[in-house]
Amino acid sequence: MRPTATIPGMIVFVVALLLSLATFAYLIESRFALLRAAKPSARLDRWGERWAGVLTQFLGQRRILSPGYLGAGIMHALIFWGFLAVGLNSVHFVGGGFVEGFHLPFFGPASWAGRAYVVFRDLFECAVIGMVLVAAYRRVVVRPARLTPSWDAALILSMIGTLMVTDLAMAGAETAFDGAASGYPSPAGHALAPLFSALGAPGSVALHGVSWWLHLATLLGFLCYLPVSKHFHVITSLPSVLFRRLDTGSLPMIDLENSERFGITGFSDLRWKDVLDVYSCTECGRCEAACPAYATGKPLNPKQINEDMRDAMMPSLPFLIGRKSLAEGQELPVLPGQTIATDVLWSCTTCRACEQACPLFIEFVDRIVGMRRKLVLEDSSFPEELKASYRNLEKAGNPWGQSAEARGDWAEGLDIPLMAEGKREVEYLLWVGCAGAYDERGKKVARATAKILKEAGVTFAILGKEETCTGDPARRTGNEYLYQMLAAQNVETLNRYGVKKIVAQCPHCFNTLLNEYPQLGGHYEVIHHSEVIARLIADGRIAMSAPVGGETVTFHDSCYLGRHNGVYDAPRQALSSAGLTILEMPRSRENGFCCGAGGGRMWMEESLGTKVNINRVDEAAETGAGLVASACPFCMTMLADGVNETGRAETIVVQDVAQIVASRMVRKDA
Ligand code: SF4
Ligand code: SF4
Repeated sequence: MRPTATIPGMIVFVVALLLSLATFAYLIESRFALLRAAKPSARLDRWGERWAGVLTQFLGQRRILSPGYLGAGIMHALIFWGFLAVGLNSVHFVGGGFVEGFHLPFFGPASWAGRAYVVFRDLFECAVIGMVLVAAYRRVVVRPARLTPSWDAALILSMIGTLMVTDLAMAGAETAFDGAASGYPSPAGHALAPLFSALGAPGSVALHGVSWWLHLATLLGFLCYLPVSKHFHVITSLPSVLFRRLDTGSLPMIDLENSERFGITGFSDLRWKDVLDVYSCTECGRCEAACPAYATGKPLNPKQINEDMRDAMMPSLPFLIGRKSLAEGQELPVLPGQTIATDVLWSCTTCRACEQACPLFIEFVDRIVGMRRKLVLEDSSFPEELKASYRNLEKAGNPWGQSAEARGDWAEGLDIPLMAEGKREVEYLLWVGCAGAYDERGKKVARATAKILKEAGVTFAILGKEETCTGDPARRTGNEYLYQMLAAQNVETLNRYGVKKIVAQCPHCFNTLLNEYPQLGGHYEVIHHSEVIARLIADGRIAMSAPVGGETVTFHDSCYLGRHNGVYDAPRQALSSAGLTILEMPRSRENGFCCGAGGGRMWMEESLGTKVNINRVDEAAETGAGLVASACPFCMTMLADGVNETGRAETIVVQDVAQIVASRMVRKDA
């Protein structure tokens, strides 16, 4: 029954196969050449962890099946697993074009593996057909807002459906004609055979032939179409997961002294992982649905960044890999300001919600900050409000421009030693941060933290006027030069005092000290104050008053504490130990919703769309809790402002975890 048994049949088969393989190889090689030409990205470490992720995330489809997307996730996972399941079938199919009844060793019709495989294949092929119909229904009838309608998706779905239907039709025709599908006991073949028996032997053979050639054409067409479509992710998703970012929190360093260009101007400035990310985006829109900027009407949509970059990158590809030369006057696209609008770039809070939501672990923050770097360092183009912040950071070492001499004023009367006094050995340096030192709300948090540490007998000191901003706002807004200046100064101070352990009460400081200062030679054990507080309560080093009962709180996860550093439990443990019942907001922990202040947004006007903090406060209010806890001074400011702006000041109190614990702590000397 082999349609290639005739010489013309074999010629058509071989020519089609060679042409499609050559086309596929050419397309893949050019895409791979761009990866080779891109900037380096250190992703060749911790192979155990990387491959474990491939098992759970690629093969296991864990993120695809995340609770918020269970329906769509099951649909995708079944299509994916079905695809893997029919992979061996495709090898048998193509081999069968050359040799009647071709099969891989151990998978013949007489082996248990071969017979079991055919049952398995039939089940998955039926499941895939069902899921393709569901996917088509979703796209045509349901039309979720996050999905971009496209002919590409329609074409791919119909190709997948055709592959499955033709394969099952071949099994049915073979069973009707032969009593078995190529000698295998195919359940689908047996189920369909009665339908085809009416055609008689010649009809079954003809139907088989048509199905065979259609299957071949679809398979080879699919192969050639994949690299030029958004379904390139069928090929790139495994490397995307394998080379995913394992450490979050730090931004790439720039060697300011030896670089001629800073940040991302064009595609040639991207790292190979960035290019892979642009290739891999499936346009599923999960990042869009998670993005606080998009949710509040800002011009930023992370999915659109990938779409726009891909649309501009693919026509540039031959020039980028040196296969074509630019004509006179012709230029490759500039990314910030041309391919990606500057408003889009300045809208990002660097919260990483998009990265957390993406099933392919596609990264945005480094790319967005990379483009901001080009705007700030090369073009001196940034929002007007940042001018004052940069000036203040440069002159006074804090974004408010307050006197460095006043940095330790918050601690007046608390008898906290300065590192400079060097009077006694201390276990921790308490890193106060600019908000803790100068902001009225932040000062209360600093005092509460200090009181808790003292109550527990923890020895600590502060830097006072020797502390300066960690540089986080400068770095996240693209001013790497200013960041490195501030960071180098701090690292020098910390190393001079031989600091080993730091408690930080601001997640931005915590993140920078922990994840970014090692890039400049500062290696410290850094703990967030909520972690220390939770530990001190658990160890019985501070005692809490008896719970009143019925007191509720909702906790807002700071992006730089939670998503960037995985600290979710400690603040909740501290609040529970203080006798409070936590009412979680729908968007919490990994799926937490930014307050709107990250990525330097704290220092910029929020003039576009609605306000992120109002959105968040509305969600907090819906829990019914009268107390909103945060563990970040900037979140606290945003939430408190949101509470005031929405007229909820009478019903909702916003406090830091440290304030809540300190107010419920039983003093030993009381
Ligand atoms: S980091 Fe946050 S604000 Fe920026 S694109 Fe991603 S989800 Fe949106
Ligand atoms: S970046 Fe990820 S989450 Fe966003 S559309 Fe692309 S694949 Fe989906």
